[in-house]
Amino acid sequence: MNALEDFRDLCAAGSFASRHIGPDEGEIAAMLAELGLPSLEALIERAVPRAIRAELGEGLPEPADEAGVLADLAALAAQNRPDIKSLIGLGYHGTHTPPVILRNVLENPGWYTAYTPYQAEIAQGRLEALLNFQTMVTELTAMDIANASLLDEATAAAEAMALALAAHRGQKRVAPSTVLAVASDLHPQTRAVLATRARPLGITVVEVTAGDVAAIERAAPFAVVLQYPGTTGAIRDLAPEIAAAHRAGALAVVAADLLSLALLKPPGEMGADVVVGSAQRFGVPFGYGGPHAAFFATRDAHKRLMPGRLVGVSQDAAGRPALRLALQTREQHIRREKATSNICTAQVLLAVIAAMYAVWHGPEGLARIARRCNLAARLLGEAARRAGFALRHPHFFDTIAIEAGPKADALVAEALARGFNLRRIDATGVAIALDETVTEAELARLAEAIGAAAGRSMKLAAADDSIPPALLRSSPFLRQHVFNAYRSEHEMLRYLKRLEDKDVALNRSMIPLGSCTMKLNATAEMIPITWPGFANIHPFAPADQAVGYRTLIKRLETWLAAITGFAAVSLQPNAGSAGEYAGLLAIRAWHESRGEGHRDICLIPTSAHGTNPASAVMAGMRVVPVGCDRDGNVDVADLRAKVDAHRDRLACLMITYPSTHGVFEEAVREICAIVHAAGGQVYMDGANMNAQVGLTSPAAVGADVCHLNLHKTFCIPHGGGGPGVGPIAVASHLAPFLPNHPLVAEAGPATGPGPVAAAPWGSAGILPISYAYIALMGRRGLKRASEIAILNANYVAHRLRDAYPVLYVGAGGLVAHECIIDCRHFQASAGVTVEDIAKRLQDYGFHAPTMSWPVAGTLMIEPTESESKAELDRFCEAMLAIRAEIAAIEKGQWPRDDNPLKNAPHTADEIAAETWTHPYSRRQAVMPLPWVAAAKYWPPVKRVDNVFGDRNLHCTCDSVEVYARAAE
Ligand SMILES: *Cc1c(COP(=O)(O)O)cnc(C)c1O
Repeated sequence: MNALEDFRDLCAAGSFASRHIGPDEGEIAAMLAELGLPSLEALIERAVPRAIRAELGEGLPEPADEAGVLADLAALAAQNRPDIKSLIGLGYHGTHTPPVILRNVLENPGWYTAYTPYQAEIAQGRLEALLNFQTMVTELTAMDIANASLLDEATAAAEAMALALAAHRGQKRVAPSTVLAVASDLHPQTRAVLATRARPLGITVVEVTAGDVAAIERAAPFAVVLQYPGTTGAIRDLAPEIAAAHRAGALAVVAADLLSLALLKPPGEMGADVVVGSAQRFGVPFGYGGPHAAFFATRDAHKRLMPGRLVGVSQDAAGRPALRLALQTREQHIRREKATSNICTAQVLLAVIAAMYAVWHGPEGLARIARRCNLAARLLGEAARRAGFALRHPHFFDTIAIEAGPKADALVAEALARGFNLRRIDATGVAIALDETVTEAELARLAEAIGAAAGRSMKLAAADDSIPPALLRSSPFLRQHVFNAYRSEHEMLRYLKRLEDKDVALNRSMIPLGSCTMKLNATAEMIPITWPGFANIHPFAPADQAVGYRTLIKRLETWLAAITGFAAVSLQPNAGSAGEYAGLLAIRAWHESRGEGHRDICLIPTSAHGTNPASAVMAGMRVVPVGCDRDGNVDVADLRAKVDAHRDRLACLMITYPSTHGVFEEAVREICAIVHAAGGQVYMDGANMNAQVGLTSPAAVGADVCHLNLHKTFCIPHGGGGPGVGPIAVASHLAPFLPNHPLVAEAGPATGPGPVAAAPWGSAGILPISYAYIALMGRRGLKRASEIAILNANYVAHRLRDAYPVLYVGAGGLVAHECIIDCRHFQASAGVTVEDIAKRLQDYGFHAPTMSWPVAGTLMIEPTESESKAELDRFCEAMLAIRAEIAAIEKGQWPRDDNPLKNAPHTADEIAAETWTHPYSRRQAVMPLPWVAAAKYWPPVKRVDNVFGDRNLHCTCDSVEVYARAAE
């Protein structure tokens, strides 16, 4: 062997895959031995049916090391042009992420690796941050109630459309309408997303000229959607249009710029029923389109129709205030076939950042930033006037529209030569959106581009009235304590740390959430997303300024096609749910293209995730449930019967693989064949892709289209409930029906059904994470990850099976990448519920597995490949210790209503109390195993009372007055 080969071997030895994958060779051997299996191959042979095995497709890279992948990504970032400042607007604005928030939230695994706050007691930190977000939105918009984020402004507007239609149908006094009126100055991408969503629901979209009150009444719509300020910057009093909508029996939806509301009269004071928008410019970078948190605020009257997650104040078992997701027991919007929305993963991490931006700046700071943007716009408007141009709109907030006539092209070119992207509105108009990052020097350069002398001559005409007095905000906002308490960096740093420490995230212990794949989010994968080359690119920047992004997107599409076995990929959907919707639209469009547009039946197994039927309803389909057999498999006889009954109208089957019950069904190919034989298509929910990569694929199984959750299988962190990316992959016959975009032709086929998200490539800003993961693992590493994910799940199932029956196993006696354990019988034997077990795990420092889904009274455990044997053993020991505690209750050693499970979780406060009345010791309560004491996690609250909170729905921070009263 020569020295160079030696050198290569040494370089290859420290592979990333061995860091991403938890167990080392010795641990893998030990786990296999415990399972009685000779090798990993033998395990896979038994767990994965031979008929569906498939190798990865061509085009996947060889594994590279972290330094190499970071260098590759740096080279791609260098091909983007963040040095050119985008003043394009269209709902996306430059912003400074306060460094204290950048480092301590966005770049901090304590925040970005957390799960959706379903287990409220161990999520009080992010719940408080989200309550701040809701408060911020209700205050700025002057509405009653706001949710804790949606996917983007355009889909938020579409959700408002759905709410308005539901509310309209609920009122009897007007003739039913299926017309949606949209103002002519709505952002074009919002309008396009509304059109996509409207079509399958039979809604007609009509445009009304901005400000034309009579046109609204003539349209007799169920809702009108207005933009504030308008897409080219104009502001006007919306009250007359809103009143006209109300006279017509319609709801008024306003898509608003959140920052402008610090200066402008808020839509809530003009009578709006729903206010939506993006919180992007509150400290969240462009990211070439996302992720950003959208907001949704409405009136009290509509709160039960509101989509998305809502944080509310309740109390814990000790009667102290505690937060939790409100109304979630009713899963209010995902009601299977009665669904009005399919939103699941939202934009929690981005909502947290936006809320913290408001905490950091406070009301005066936000008003100052808003005034700064307005003044910059006025100065530039004045420069334009002096250069001989007229402004299209006399009244504006931060965006001026210059009537440039024949000079429009030249103006844009002059600005570009000086480092600015402006927006061409139409043949003669050029818009410039000023943001908080624009400096005096940049204003001078812009003035020069316009042709006005800069410097001292930049002054304002005396009669400047960009914001008419009637449109000025007079009401105070953000007077709550939290928005007025953290002005010094030390105070802010400690506030962020306090909240972080209340929560369990992956930097503390494994989060074994079945179906959610909480695997490692490696640091090297995360680092590039905050580089300016990826963070600071506007989604509508010219293509030649995003060459690196386009290359990255192309490569990632190729890789995901190779992994799924499909022909084409769209990265546009912003979550799994959005992917489902896009995939079903593709199926519908395909049927239509063959003259079979009447096919509208969607078969869905009863075990499916709630988003499946909700997406089907949104795609205009009718849901027909298919039963499951005792082993958790699709009941093939029932499937045949349903296919026969609906043969002529069958559009598709939606199926999850491996099933939501965590097994590789043997019959899946037969199932797909039955559907195809009847002219239907097969949609695969790819949430369980972590069991498939390199072993089988959706195409090999027989599906036509699938979505992937890049925030599950491909390492985008969960962010406490978002961001997500839910790309769809399709067979070649469906490729012409992928989503596209009205402003960026390359984003999808011209024959597509329209956009499903505001940005051409959705949340492009976090695609470097999945790109890095695939590049680091390479084809060998990816396959290995799936094998170890299956090994880990079987190891846990094996270790727990004597204490907790494993509900479903495949033909080989093994599970796939997750296992469901049965806890139902403890109710009779000890009065213990699955919730008691979940809460007791918190005392051991663990986040509970998925609870009561897909089977009530069970826990679904998905350890992923990233957990080492040591961590799996710790988790299993905790579960076995809890089983022993249940046994003590069964034997009567502890009463059924006073034991460590019923009282879980235990707080430091109650342990420190003078008195202790329980029949078990304080040590048993909080340090039941030796290793718990070594790194004790203290739940900040006792068990949270959901019912109390829902009866007393309260979804904002307490006002200053309440604080003042409490202090008295
Ligand atoms: C997570 C999940 C979804 C929904 O994905 P989101 O990104 O949350 O919209 C759909 N189906 C299954 C089986 C899932 O686990």
